[in-house]
Amino acid sequence: MHELSICQSLIKQVETIAQERKAQCVTLIVVGMGSLSGVDAQLLQNAYVIASAGTVAEKAELIIEHLPIRVKCNQCGSESDALPNKLVCKQCGDWQTTLLSGNELMLMSVELEKSQESAVVH
Ligand SMILES: [Zn+2]
Repeated sequence: MHELSICQSLIKQVETIAQERKAQCVTLIVVGMGSLSGVDAQLLQNAYVIASAGTVAEKAELIIEHLPIRVKCNQCGSESDALPNKLVCKQCGDWQTTLLSGNELMLMSVELEKSQESAVVH
């Protein structure tokens, strides 16, 4: 299961942060996910419950933020937002675009219980 291995690596990152800051437990994890990442948000939530069991992140809430898709036009050079099924330039309507973002999945922030501080990692 693709989502489970993603969760396991996310939790490893979270554990490292919690250890560095000597936190007892993690209350909130925010993950940024592009629509083109190929990850299903619901499956990720389900996998998270399995992957986090027994870790510092066991009781943390997982928030998934959807990141916009950005493309750069190969014709006119402008950058614009795009839809997952329509990666066209908003300026000139050309289909020859380069994906700038929208296919990533990354840890954005973590909230730790002990210190109440928020560690922004990206
Ligand atoms: Zn264009």
